Amino acid sequence: DTNTTSLKVLMVPWLAHGHVIPYLELAKKLSKTNLFFIYFCSTPIILNSINQENLPKNIQLIEFPLPSSTQLPSHNHTTNGLPKNLLSTLIQTFGEATSAFAKILDSLNPDLLIFDGFQPWAPELASSRNIPAIHFLIVGSASISFFYHHYLYVGTRNFPFSAIFLKDYEAKQLQHNSLGPNVAFNGVEKSHDIILINTCNEIEGKYVDYLSTLSKKKVIPVGPLIRELKTSMENEGNDSKIIQWLDNKDESSCVYVSFGSEYFLSKEEIEEIAHSLELSELNFIWVLRFPLGEEINIENVLPKGFLDRVKEKGVIVEKWAPQARILEHASVGGFLCHCGWNSILESLHFGVPLVTMPMHLDQHTHSRMAVELGTAMEVVRDEKGKLNREETAKVIRNVVMEKNGGENVKAKIRELRNKIREKGEEEFDQVVKRLLHLCTKNKQ
Ligand code: UDP
Repeated sequence: DTNTTSLKVLMVPWLAHGHVIPYLELAKKLSKTNLFFIYFCSTPIILNSINQENLPKNIQLIEFPLPSSTQLPSHNHTTNGLPKNLLSTLIQTFGEATSAFAKILDSLNPDLLIFDGFQPWAPELASSRNIPAIHFLIVGSASISFFYHHYLYVGTRNFPFSAIFLKDYEAKQLQHNSLGPNVAFNGVEKSHDIILINTCNEIEGKYVDYLSTLSKKKVIPVGPLIRELKTSMENEGNDSKIIQWLDNKDESSCVYVSFGSEYFLSKEEIEEIAHSLELSELNFIWVLRFPLGEEINIENVLPKGFLDRVKEKGVIVEKWAPQARILEHASVGGFLCHCGWNSILESLHFGVPLVTMPMHLDQHTHSRMAVELGTAMEVVRDEKGKLNREETAKVIRNVVMEKNGGENVKAKIRELRNKIREKGEEEFDQVVKRLLHLCTKNKQ
């Protein structure tokens, strides 16, 4: 019985797709070694969104009941589609569920906890029971080390790598974000002597090392963890139509446009992007999403006549697109991306050159990292952060048509893709050894 011979690992991701996806991939990777039994703990709505058919036997889903809150709408178990100001309410509600979490800990009695940053109470409860707790970071190390550096040395020391910086309007925008920096660094500070991160040395080695220096813990890259091609969010009928549409286009002739699962474009941004795509004269697939509960007729937010004018060239996907299947397709030659970390890793994995248009939070620094790496060209905004349709169209064309530097971006991303695909599992074997050591040391 695996359950009694393996070491028991409890994993608790934050309630958003960008977190659940890499946590689940890490769970699968650990489960493949047959050395661990994984309890994957989240709210019912998140667990239901997981494709359970192919889940290995040594991963068990554990329901985490959230207390009801009058301030949250009924779909309150995930940040996807949640109005922005409710994020901190959700963090708080989650935090009020600590007694439920204590019960889970006591009944499962795991050998190890792998936790996310917005749940500082999870490692606290674990360590009071003598269970080691490890933080698993699901953002890039260039970003997290940049922000952690500024948190530790408030205004007194420059970040040692000049490629990573914030523009004035980005820094201002961040000051108005309701999430204070301490929220993000709780996980780093409360982690046992190691921290796992979904990246790899091939893309971010120097920043991984710098994060180790800053945190005085061993930061270990376990990525890139890319989700398997299909999720249950996907809709078979609609998805095959998109793939068929791509089948009929020329190689590398299309740009895929997506801003992730949590960012919603303003009306002004929608207009500007629509005009940019039209000006680029390229084929495109654009995922256009609105917050849950908002019934929007897209014709009312797009420029007049847009859908008619682009009907041969463009597809708009409302709600959820099969992103991995799209990026894998040979007709896709570029990805206009908000720079969510999973999207950046997926672009690398599939070798699709990036046009970056960071929107908020750590997306700016993720974009700077990708530009430094040579796998992206960033869309330049004016000094107030406004988009310009000619500029956007030009950058997209350069990347997709491989000119004015776009050809180098493509060459670089293909080179890195191959390097990452060819690397063996020795690094992950080391991680497994370390985790085993940590669990058993604690058991003695
Ligand atoms: N995603 C998708 N279809 C969509 C939007 C997003 O499959 O229409 C997936 C995407 O492939 C990625 C994840 O959802 O794996 C989004 O994570 P990311 O870190 O890129 O952005 P976030 O949503 O956290 O801003």
